[in-house]
Amino acid sequence: MGKIIDGKVVAENIREGLVAEIRELKEKRGIVPKLSVVLVGDDPASQVYVGHKEKGCQAVGIISATIRKPASIKEDELVSVVKNLNADPTVHGILVQLPLPKGLDPIAVLNEIDPAKDVDGLHPMNMGRLLRGEKTPFVPCTPSGIIHLLLSTGERIEGKAAVVVGRSNIVGKPMALLLLQQHCTVTICHSRTANLAEVCRRGDILVASVGKPQIIKGDWVKEGAMVIDVGVNRVEGKLIGDVDFEAAKERASYITPVPGGVGPMTITMLLKNTLKAAKGL
Ligand code: NAP
Repeated sequence: MGKIIDGKVVAENIREGLVAEIRELKEKRGIVPKLSVVLVGDDPASQVYVGHKEKGCQAVGIISATIRKPASIKEDELVSVVKNLNADPTVHGILVQLPLPKGLDPIAVLNEIDPAKDVDGLHPMNMGRLLRGEKTPFVPCTPSGIIHLLLSTGERIEGKAAVVVGRSNIVGKPMALLLLQQHCTVTICHSRTANLAEVCRRGDILVASVGKPQIIKGDWVKEGAMVIDVGVNRVEGKLIGDVDFEAAKERASYITPVPGGVGPMTITMLLKNTLKAAKGL
């Protein structure tokens, strides 16, 4: 039976280090990191995520400011909000909460964020650096948190076959690139993948970021695989992952729960990126 990777514990260890670094930055250079989150519309899940980000910032000593705008905002007005934040020297990190309401093009807005303040790592400059294998301070938070989780087990992941289900810009694609950087042999799956179950069964590492409750069945998991469940699905008031946890746990060597696996790491990586931005790294 697989061991549970406790994201809360791994995240807490990293946050302790961040608290010390943030204190030192204030003492030595008089800088207090600040994150500005732009929240457009009233999507309930986004409200919850932004609330978690605000709390996370407060807990480690980062100033957080959320700018709320109505769903009716025009794209050029939203771009102006971003440009003002770019120009504000007290703001170190900028995050535009996704998804944006219909009619607003996320790409057009994200492209305007100053790459040096792009703590979500979604600007083409930062994604391009990741693709080219160059050093970039800002890697998307969820996949970089997952690499921490995998390495926290003490297992060597180099050379392993990694299967990523999902090809979103925010999780699947950067995940695949980070696993490649770790010298895994990577397969990316999506909605048109033929024989998904069979492909999943090849993964020594299996990352699911689909957004469909328990789409990954227990018998899709290779014996001894490390299973990372990114999915957050609300079913009858409960949060359910993309993996059938109880069945998959029987075959996995390690597995993340939902909640309490990937989620806490995503926010922790955001805090880490904001600190990097404040340091000017
Ligand atoms: P997304 O943008 O909705 O993309 C979903 C991906 O899954 C797409 O690539 C899609 O393929 C693929 N897919 C859909 N149905 C499939 C099927 N039947 N078989 C195989 N692949 C299929 O997803 P996302 O933004 O990566 O989010 C995925 C889930 O992770 C959501 O539940 C989200 O809430 C959660 N999430 C959690 C965190 C966290 O911190 N815990 C962070 C981000 C996201 P196509 O490209 O072919 O359409």
